[in-house]
Amino acid sequence: MQLKKNDTVKVIAGKDKGKQGKITQVFPMEKKVVVEGVNVYKKHLRPRKQGEGGQVIEFFAPLNMNKVQLICPKCGKLTRIGKQLTSDGKKIRICKKCKATI
Ligand SMILES: [Zn+2]
Repeated sequence: MQLKKNDTVKVIAGKDKGKQGKITQVFPMEKKVVVEGVNVYKKHLRPRKQGEGGQVIEFFAPLNMNKVQLICPKCGKLTRIGKQLTSDGKKIRICKKCKATI
């Protein structure tokens, strides 16, 4: 998997199965990604001053890359990423369905 920031992915397993969103962070070492609107957790913050209410903040927790699949920006289908070498030796990502460079 070579997912990158700003890729649009669909969750294919877990509690958020079926949701889709944009990748906002990639952790290659942990093989995890953070996807906007997916894997939402709430954190309760204690009030800092007396008389103030506590705050609840929502954040998106990282999830395993193998739980998401790329949605090709060209053909709009769930796809896998293929690798291809260009004539000048650069590695590019291609959609395995429509062969577009992504
Ligand atoms: Zn495609």
